[in-house]
Amino acid sequence: MSTQHADRAADLDAADPLASFRDEFLLEAAPGVSAYLDGNSLGRPLKATATEVDRFVRREWGGRLIQGWTEDEHGGWMDWPTLLGDQIGRVVLGAAAGQTVVADSTTVLFYKLVRAAVDAGLAQGRDEVVCDTDNFPTDRFVLEGIAAERGVRLRWIETDPAAGITAEQVRAAVGPRTALATFSHVAYRSGHLADAAGITRVVQDAGALVLWDLCHSAGSVELALDSWGVDLAVGCSYKYLNGGPGAPAFGYLATRHQGVLRQPVQGWMGHADPFAMGQGYRPDPGVRQLISGTPPIVGMVPVRVGVEQLERAGIAAVRQKSVLLTQFALDLADELLAPHGVQVATPREAAARGGHITLRRSDFREVTQKLWADGVVPDFRTPDGIRLGLAPLSTSFGEVLDGIVALQQIVKDA
Ligand SMILES: *Cc1c(COP(=O)(O)O)cnc(C)c1O
Repeated sequence: MSTQHADRAADLDAADPLASFRDEFLLEAAPGVSAYLDGNSLGRPLKATATEVDRFVRREWGGRLIQGWTEDEHGGWMDWPTLLGDQIGRVVLGAAAGQTVVADSTTVLFYKLVRAAVDAGLAQGRDEVVCDTDNFPTDRFVLEGIAAERGVRLRWIETDPAAGITAEQVRAAVGPRTALATFSHVAYRSGHLADAAGITRVVQDAGALVLWDLCHSAGSVELALDSWGVDLAVGCSYKYLNGGPGAPAFGYLATRHQGVLRQPVQGWMGHADPFAMGQGYRPDPGVRQLISGTPPIVGMVPVRVGVEQLERAGIAAVRQKSVLLTQFALDLADELLAPHGVQVATPREAAARGGHITLRRSDFREVTQKLWADGVVPDFRTPDGIRLGLAPLSTSFGEVLDGIVALQQIVKDA
């Protein structure tokens, strides 16, 4: 490593207004990891998360027992799905209260919202869903299942796996038969950041609804769901929200669709009066109608800690650092890795990329194993991509340099 690179990393870290947030993470729990470059897949735990989970078990669950559902210091657990939803809406999504709920996994919430939109479309003679070939697998698989279940046609847009979906492509695909169009805001592979506002307009001009998957954008890029006029959105809380493995997802249902769209998994917890225990399902009039069964309360404890940290940092500052991190990684890749046949498969323009970048070389599957053995932890995505997920609150510029230098050592010898 040249001192010039080390100096630049040190300068960037010294000038980083968010640098101190890194100290809030439980870094010492992974002493063998010198560079964690996968915060876009599973965020690191905060120290406060360990304390809060312990406190929750002892004081709230252990102390309140069943009474916790209706009374505790943050409101009863019954209210957590919408209280935490509102907080995620405010801090992360650009969504006013009453439109976001925490429940299920992204996959399950995605199913519910797509089914609701498809059924509403079918009632108006709209029988197509527009989607793209490079969307995250779970989205594509759920769409295939719903297409078979409801007899709708999927209209696939072929997306460039090194870039992503564009408004022009969407304009050419939507029409009077479109019920719904759904895409990822930040592409899981390339990191491409879609023009969500522009694409939302194009879809709605065709009379259809739009559903954004925000898994890779929530907590890394600025979102403005209300002002973009988004209809539906889902996302997970274990990536940039640091909620922990399998943490529950969030769903956004714009106020104007509440009581109009109907999700298919009608359970007692989405009922207007769950404890009436009466005959016949009647959905809650608000966003709670997206809930089906008992909410995953324990899983929400770490999410609350993560969102509270994001609120203190501010999403605008997070995005600013994210752009600098990815730019630093791209500059290093050009200088240190490109001479060894490594290609960049992420948009170059800052406005067109999210918080992670993808590098490609044919032997990267084996290279990833070597990196992990060296304490450098990115992830591998078939066929030949190493993804570097640079979570702004927990990743330092020095860590990015260490990771890329380790990668350079391996690729220059291979
Ligand atoms: C991570 C991710 C998911 C994950 O869905 P789960 O139900 O939590 O497994 C879905 N969509 C996208 C775009 C993702 O990046």
